[in-house]
Order: sequence, then structure tokens, then C-alpha cells
Amino acid sequence: MDIQKIIDKLANSKEVGIISHLSPDGDALGSQLALALGLEKMGIKTILINKDFVPENLSFLPSSQSIKPLESFTNIPEVLVFVDCATMERTGYDTDDINTNKIFTINIDHHISNSNFARYNLVKNQAAATAEIIYDLLSLLQIKMDKNIATSLYTGLSTDTGSFMYDNVTPTTHKVAADLIKYGADTSKVRVNFYENMSRNKVELLKQGLSNLNFSVDGRIAWIAYDLKSFEELNLSSTDADGMISYVKNISEVEVAMVFKEVQTNLYKVSMRSKSWFDVNELASLFDGGGHVRAAGCTIKGEINENIKKIVESCQQIMMRGGF
Ligand code: 5GP
Ligand code: MN
Ligand code: MN
Repeated sequence: MDIQKIIDKLANSKEVGIISHLSPDGDALGSQLALALGLEKMGIKTILINKDFVPENLSFLPSSQSIKPLESFTNIPEVLVFVDCATMERTGYDTDDINTNKIFTINIDHHISNSNFARYNLVKNQAAATAEIIYDLLSLLQIKMDKNIATSLYTGLSTDTGSFMYDNVTPTTHKVAADLIKYGADTSKVRVNFYENMSRNKVELLKQGLSNLNFSVDGRIAWIAYDLKSFEELNLSSTDADGMISYVKNISEVEVAMVFKEVQTNLYKVSMRSKSWFDVNELASLFDGGGHVRAAGCTIKGEINENIKKIVESCQQIMMRGGF
């Protein structure tokens, strides 16, 4: 693990870029912003890069308005930190966009499928969230925690653990969360803005999804699908369907829940979650995706019913191997 090298490299940089993944979630943004706020305290200039916009329910995060796509910067710093990205491509940019010959890359992440793609890599798949790793890093850099940093990191921890409910939670997760609350993390801001902030149109989207719920293997596999039209009609984007998967997973019999979302014509983003034993990272990997054992995803081209058939059949096969 390159932690000491990363500390030295960051401490000796004047300017650092921080980038995260497409459709950024609470951990992506929380980690990115906390690292930036921390480095700024050391007098290091930071720029924040994401291809996709910050979703409305995370726009309360301090400094989130400073995140911009790569195209808006004429120069990017020599040091670029990737947070919460299993691969470089998860940023939505490739090695042509990010000139890796010139740029010094650092990869900080917790995905089991992480490919250690950077010059320096700090990948801990036992961490519940990248935010947990950033917390450690900021402590080692001797950066004084404050309310904004704590709120950003707490958001990452809370959202990647389903409010501290998932199997990825360890004693360390709770210890870090306790420290963050001590440093002033605004937990009610996180709750009200992220969890208690469903627009009526989103409720409508959820109703549509649940009215077309599908099951297989005696209800052990369940899925819903959204086409582009369902988002357009409600003036929503595909990220607005992000939380829907828990409603599918919450059903008693369900072990594997999936949500198929059309993000461009005939291009589907698939979210996968499992409840107790199924490895969704294995399933997603069959379709060039990845993630974690209990939460993974992939992107697949083609006609929706064929895509569903392919993925559900693979899911059934893995399930049969597990004895069902
Ligand atoms: P979500 O379903 O919330 O978009 O993603 C769940 C998890 O799977 C996240 O940890 C995310 O990083 C990972 N994931 C989602 N989509 C992809 C993908 O297309 N490729 C890879 N490698 N990981 C993904
Ligand atoms: Mn993420
Ligand atoms: Mn994460």
C-alpha cells in the first residue's frame, strides 16, 4: 500500500486535482470535497472534476458547486487523485482525456474490483466507504477536522452503508462516524437533504417501477426497469431512480435486486444489490461492471428485454451454484 508515498506526494504539491465517478454518489462527492477542504487547509490549491453534475439531494454538501467537468479547465494540476473509482474509466474519461504520461495519478478507493490503475494506489476493500479511508489520510496529514469536512465524510459513510445497515459496516465505520459527529458533522442536514427529500415526481417514478416489478426463482431475484420515456415524462434524470433499488431489496424473499435504467437510447445502467449471500460483484463482472459483494453495477447496450434476459439468466446460474 502506497499510503506514506501518497502523504509525501500530497504534502509536497502546490496544486492537486480530485476526480470521481460518473453519476456521483454521496461517497464520491463526500470523499472528494473532504479531501479538497483538507488539502486547502494545508495551503494546497485544489480543483474538483466530475463529468456528471451533482444531484440535487447532495447539493447541500459544502463547496459542491465548485465541481466542474474536465472540459471547463484549461490546465489540470500535475497530481490527480481519483476517489471512489474502481477503474479510470469510471470517471467517464479515458487516458486520452487524462494524459497519464504527464499526470501523476493517485487512486484512493474501496472497491473489491479496483484495478490499481494509478501510480500510487490506496485501495482498502474492507473500508465501508472511500470516506473512511480519506478520514485516515486526513488524520495522517495532521489536518484539523472541522464541521464541513466532518459533514462531507459522514455523508460518504452514511450513504455507502445504507445508514449503517449494510454488511460492509465494521467497528471502524462506527468509530469513524462517532469521531465525525464529535467534530460537528451535521447529521440532520444529511438526513433531511438526502433521505427525507423525495420529490413527488420521484414518488411517481417509484410507483411506476413498483407497478412493473418482476420476479424469478421464487422471488429470490426481483427487478424493475425504466426506459428514457419514464424519466422524460416526469422531467427526471436516471440518477433520480438511485434509491429505488432498496424498495426491491426490502421484499422478504428477495436476495438479488436489480434496477435497469435507460441512460441513452438502448444503453442501460444496471444497479445490483444482494441481501445476505449472493456476490453481485461476480454477476456485474460478467458484463464488464463491478463494485462490491452486496452492491455492484454495469452498463449494457442493446434491447432492454434481451439485456434483462441475459443478466437474469446469469444471475439464476450463479444462484443455482449456491444451492437454489
Ligand atoms: P450503483 O448501483 O449505486 O450505481 O452502484 C453500486 C456499486 O457498483 C458502486 O460501488 C459502483 O461503484 C459500482 N458500479 C456501478 N456501476 C458500475 C460500472 O458500470 N462499472 C463498475 N466497475 N462498477 C460499477
Ligand atoms: Mn460511489
Ligand atoms: Mn464508495
